[in-house]
Amino acid sequence: MRLIYALSRVLPLFLSLAMPASAQELSALARLDVGASSVTQGDGGLNLTFDVSQPVPWRLRFLDRPPRLILDAREVDWTGVQRLAVPAPVTALRAGRFRAGWSRLVIELDGPQRLISAEMATLGDRAVIRVVLAPTDPESFAAEAARADLPEWAVPDPADIVAPLPEGGGPLVVVLDPGHGGIDPGAERDGESEADLMLTFARELKEVLLRDGRFAVVMTRDDDIFVPLETRTSVARDAGADLFLSLHADALAEGEAQGATVYTLAADATDAASAALAERHDRDDLLAGIDLSDQDDLVAEVLMDMARTETMPSTDRLAAAVVGAIKAAEIRMHRYPHQTAGFSVLKSPDIPSVLLELGFLSSERDFKRLSDPVWRARMAEAVRLAILQWADEEDALRVLANP
Ligand SMILES: [Zn+2]
Repeated sequence: MRLIYALSRVLPLFLSLAMPASAQELSALARLDVGASSVTQGDGGLNLTFDVSQPVPWRLRFLDRPPRLILDAREVDWTGVQRLAVPAPVTALRAGRFRAGWSRLVIELDGPQRLISAEMATLGDRAVIRVVLAPTDPESFAAEAARADLPEWAVPDPADIVAPLPEGGGPLVVVLDPGHGGIDPGAERDGESEADLMLTFARELKEVLLRDGRFAVVMTRDDDIFVPLETRTSVARDAGADLFLSLHADALAEGEAQGATVYTLAADATDAASAALAERHDRDDLLAGIDLSDQDDLVAEVLMDMARTETMPSTDRLAAAVVGAIKAAEIRMHRYPHQTAGFSVLKSPDIPSVLLELGFLSSERDFKRLSDPVWRARMAEAVRLAILQWADEEDALRVLANP
């Protein structure tokens, strides 16, 4: 038996759904309707029905010792699920936050079961997850439960997630991505390389964020090493990043470009990005926690587009906050301070991602600024304030969306 995404029936609905603007963690975008949900023993087996306030990406998995079925869903508030009456073989229902942006429902079983069917059907704006289980032999169950999971889903132990969904809290996970490195020095000028300058700035920014106390910081590289672009986005997913900030100071051939510039992924690049990503074989790496490896290209693209539709407004707000804070710090910005492009490192569908060109090494004045620790400290402080302002705004929107 395999992981199941029962999405094929509802594909057109997913395609036309307008997703809410907030894509932050714990926004509990979907809520369980306890009254419309049930666990009953029927002819075909055990029927589990969960009515949630909107469709969400989800997956199922069996685990052994003790036997249980895991239902992972993106941002579902399972509050009240333990009030459902549960007949054998279910012994208990537990829910909690599993990883950033994902919740986990644990359906405890008193013996080995197998999956007969699983689907998510939409009902107006709502979605109904229906799962049917039937008894099986211990050997088959053990084999199914022993199947290797994606590494990112393997931890933490599900036994550790009995706590209820917290109301936010915890540090904001910032992934800093100093551009280039190793065999790829990036732009160069007067014996300095963009790779080195960006690593220096990233380390300084990391210190500023850590001193603040409200951030956890992960770097895609902390040395002069080459890191492939796709690995950089993988680092962000593995870290459960709340945001991804790529740092560059490229050289531009044309004109006299100078000043800091914030880039986000161009809208016309997103379709191409989804299509290109979906063609790849290692699909399990594309979207945090969603195993796309058994899906056809269309379903993979739809799942990524869904996530992207949620994420893009948040990304735009992040870009606006960075531009605003840099301007407020009276740091020189490019004439067009927010631009879009098809940069690969910005293609994570589910993590707000921006690329900050701190300046252009092709500009003498930008090069001097970048080489000046006082200027870099001002810039780092502006970025810290931008992230805080953005996080506050996301919190406020989350409250509005879930009063
Ligand atoms: Zn660069």
